[in-house]
Amino acid sequence: MTNPAPTNHQTYPCGDCGAHLQFAPGTTSLTCPYCGAQQAIVPQRRQVVEHSYAELGAKPRRNPQQVPPNLFVCTGCQAHTESDAWSDVCQFCGAPVVTDQFNPDLVAPEGLVPFQIDKSGARKALKEWVSSRWFAPNSFKKVDEAESLKSTYLPHWTWDAGTTTDYRGERGEHYYVERDGKQERRTRWYPAHGTVERDFDDVVVPATAHVGGDHLDGLSSDWNTKEAAAFQPQYLSGHFTQRYEIGPDAALEAAKQKMAPVIREDIKRHIGGDAQRIHDVDTRYENLTYKLLLLPVWLLAYLFNGKSWQVLVSGQTGKVRGERPWSAWKITFAVLVALIVIAGVVYLMAIR
Ligand SMILES: [Zn+2]
Ligand SMILES: [Zn+2]
Repeated sequence: MTNPAPTNHQTYPCGDCGAHLQFAPGTTSLTCPYCGAQQAIVPQRRQVVEHSYAELGAKPRRNPQQVPPNLFVCTGCQAHTESDAWSDVCQFCGAPVVTDQFNPDLVAPEGLVPFQIDKSGARKALKEWVSSRWFAPNSFKKVDEAESLKSTYLPHWTWDAGTTTDYRGERGEHYYVERDGKQERRTRWYPAHGTVERDFDDVVVPATAHVGGDHLDGLSSDWNTKEAAAFQPQYLSGHFTQRYEIGPDAALEAAKQKMAPVIREDIKRHIGGDAQRIHDVDTRYENLTYKLLLLPVWLLAYLFNGKSWQVLVSGQTGKVRGERPWSAWKITFAVLVALIVIAGVVYLMAIR
């Protein structure tokens, strides 16, 4: 295998001390972690735009898993860092590196939501989340003190679509019959068919395969994608940025699966009556548009009982999603207390 050519990248040296500037969450500035110097990020004129699905078909594309990693050659210490990420740090001197060159076989990010929550905000959110978990082992309560909290932009696809759905089903109407002196409910079914329409805006689908799993998908409904700014590399400095692993076609299928239950609810309302059955659904998607967004997440991975657990804190809202261990001892104790209380009540009722 040939060595990849070095990736063009940006670093933002501090004018005062020569260290490297990093994007400071919650601001629109780069700051120097050493001397505190600040540099405002000049906003771009460019707006975030949606791209049509047809445009995607015309682009040369490769399976993201087969695209070679970036090779960052540190301008400070000359060390080589090979990385799948779009922004990373030099493995030798820790200088932030931000790609300036997107592989032509990949879709480049259209926009990003800059980090609003800084590290101490993420810690605070984590602390509250941890302390409100019932039946967690005591050692878990210290998880918010872990050093491994990592600010990472995670790639997500958003899809827009106008949908028209033809359906066939049945409308049920309840009626009551008298049986053995009791009212019993029955349902009479009538054939139903029709067409419903619904427009979708920014259905968010995670584009990473090995971070967070269901928890990342859980965050998907919380993102305010309207706060996204056009992509600007400065916002990545000092933070990690994952390249996408799930391509746009797979993401479109996932987006359609998120649209399906909404359409089913529309159909049920359209059928009306007391109960509904849906037999056939045929959806057409028009004006399909997409964009690739980088969304900010504080990632925490911790080891507990030899197993690795993951917790995510939204860098936009501070909302926490993640895995937590259960304390077998505390649960057993709570069950015992409940049993004693029940036994006590039964005893009191028995002696009355
Ligand atoms: Zn400085
Ligand atoms: Zn370096």
